[in-house]
Amino acid sequence: MAEIRNFKCPCCGAALVFDGVSQTLDCSSCGNSFEVETLKQLDECTGETAKESKFDWEHYEPRSYEPDGEIDLASYSCPSCGAEIAGDNNLGATICPYCGNSTIVKRNFEGTLRPDYIIPFKTDKNGAMRAFENACANAPFLPKEFKDKRVVEKMTGVYVPYWMFDCDCEASAVFNATRVSAWSDGRFDYIKTDFYKLIRAGNIGFTNVPVDASSKTDNRYMEGAEPFDCGAAVDFNAGYLSGYLADRYDVSADDSIERANERVKNTAASILNSTAAGLYATVIPESSRVSFSGGKIRYSLLPVWMLNIKYMDKMYKYVINGQTGKVSGEFPTSKTKKARFFAAVFGVTFAVCAACVWAFTNFM
Ligand SMILES: [Zn+2]
Ligand SMILES: [Zn+2]
Repeated sequence: MAEIRNFKCPCCGAALVFDGVSQTLDCSSCGNSFEVETLKQLDECTGETAKESKFDWEHYEPRSYEPDGEIDLASYSCPSCGAEIAGDNNLGATICPYCGNSTIVKRNFEGTLRPDYIIPFKTDKNGAMRAFENACANAPFLPKEFKDKRVVEKMTGVYVPYWMFDCDCEASAVFNATRVSAWSDGRFDYIKTDFYKLIRAGNIGFTNVPVDASSKTDNRYMEGAEPFDCGAAVDFNAGYLSGYLADRYDVSADDSIERANERVKNTAASILNSTAAGLYATVIPESSRVSFSGGKIRYSLLPVWMLNIKYMDKMYKYVINGQTGKVSGEFPTSKTKKARFFAAVFGVTFAVCAACVWAFTNFM
């Protein structure tokens, strides 16, 4: 009995009292009653979910790149933004994909860190240019510079470094949910709200959770160009770099772990949450937990086209997914074009009004 008296009402927090006749625990505050076994289960589950998550990734050991004669690599550095990128030694004059600067210094290539995987380009330059043109067609009042082929042609194919995280985790979450019903008996309208405690748990496998490994790429642009089909990743082979630039990571695997943890935990919670979709009026997360050990980290290169366009002293940056052609970036509006459009619209409205007045006076 002592154990039973310790239970608190899961609905309102008041102390529960055991009723010997009904064999239930009753709450005098909110009027609910509970089976002892149900409360024990609830206690176990919520206690488990309230524990701290356990993320255990294997240590990543960097491997150095050994030229294998497949491709002659050069190192390109940008004096303007400090980008250090590797690329095909035969690339002609190139521009910095990160800032658009055209004075790039070419040096002899000195070893870098060998990626585990590479996702080869699927959208070639023409395809990427077409994708950009289509995105431009949907941007209102776009300055003409953005539609100039000579400008758009300057886009560069870059393999950007990513850390890929794999893990099989146990995930659990507790949600507070409600269901609302309403009816009327002719005299009164009734609204009833039922409160639920949802407990969800399961095993979720994650493969290739991507985390950007370069501090130079703005995450907003990169995430805007996602998703990448990581299933197309192949073992790294320098031959894929031919004709492209490749950046190397400057954010270590260890420094990326926190973002991977966040992505794994949030995705697990939203998968568990989705099992309640449509069944309740509201579902509010209370707590969630993931736990795994031996998660794997791999170094990968992902294909993007990068384009920088200068307009009114501002550099507009675009990242185009090298697999799907999805365009990420903000488009400016030309004030002159906008002004001309409104002048035209008002001109038409005015002409219509003038016609109305004319018709009206004629009628009189
Ligand atoms: Zn209560
Ligand atoms: Zn630069």
